[in-house]
Amino acid sequence: MRVQHGYSDLLRGLTHYLSRGQLLLLSACLSLGLVLLGNSALSQPNSIEAVSETAPTNAAVYHFKVGDLKAMVVSDGTLSFPANFFVPKADPNAVTSVLTDHFLSTEDVFAHVNALYIETDEHQVLIDTGSGDAFGPTAGHLLKNLQAAGVAVTDIDTVILTHAHPDHIGGILDADGQLRLPNAQFYISQAEADFWTADTVELPKSLLDEETKAGLIATAKGTMMAIRDRTTLFTMGDEVIPHIQAVDSAGHTPGQASYLITSGEESLLATGDVFFSDPLNLENPDWEVAFDGDPEQGVIARRNLLETVTAERRLLLVPHMPFPGLGHVRPQADAYGWEPIVWRFTV
Ligand SMILES: [Zn+2]
Repeated sequence: MRVQHGYSDLLRGLTHYLSRGQLLLLSACLSLGLVLLGNSALSQPNSIEAVSETAPTNAAVYHFKVGDLKAMVVSDGTLSFPANFFVPKADPNAVTSVLTDHFLSTEDVFAHVNALYIETDEHQVLIDTGSGDAFGPTAGHLLKNLQAAGVAVTDIDTVILTHAHPDHIGGILDADGQLRLPNAQFYISQAEADFWTADTVELPKSLLDEETKAGLIATAKGTMMAIRDRTTLFTMGDEVIPHIQAVDSAGHTPGQASYLITSGEESLLATGDVFFSDPLNLENPDWEVAFDGDPEQGVIARRNLLETVTAERRLLLVPHMPFPGLGHVRPQADAYGWEPIVWRFTV
């Protein structure tokens, strides 16, 4: 920035002394000099900007289809938090043991943030919007990754929200409170919108500390109010738009919805936050989760959903399971296990 600023200041100053032709020539020479300067910066191994711009990364999108519908899981990045913060009432030895069995860190739960993009006949749809600026540099990359996959933020006309936590609605507004998805209409359940926009919002059963609760409430309320003129509310069971039906998943939040996406003979259930980790929530579905607004109801919702999707052998997209978060749940002893899909290179 500083270089560009100095460059334009320099040109402005020189206009008093040089003819237009001389100025254009000088401008071309200076531009060439800056390009060469840029190239030499790239060759320096300790140039952080250069490395992050050029280093290869792993895939952040996964293309697939649901019947005739084009679909894509897009990564927003990752989050992590201490295991004993995540399931605070579970026996710490049991938590350590099950994480060790899965070859996972016993300190931190590592959660992906996956969002779903769907193209129907009429709409370009995003289910949830990622974290935006809410959680620092490991997350908030959804819209950038979407753009890299060829979908501009202006292309999205429909945003369907599972619930109003910051890792799902954080991508809606930028730091100035402006819409990042300027052409979108928003959909959220009536129960979810009513809860967060009430005059008094409290989370008396939550296991989170008061400061974290206050942050969740402020973000949800502020965002819901900011988009209220372009938000359509629905009831559980409704068809939100053709091909996409709301499925009650309340517990994590009072109006959380999952979405059953159907085309022809194929279907996919894009869940809200019902489970996050196979060792902690599928093998131990009764462990209460700190992020659930009502942890006891969270256990009931998890048990209900797991029983249903196992019986139906339903394909799932789960927001916080390892990317791309597509897979099936199977019965395992008296609990459940996760079977991720096999990665395909062709759609
Ligand atoms: Zn979440």
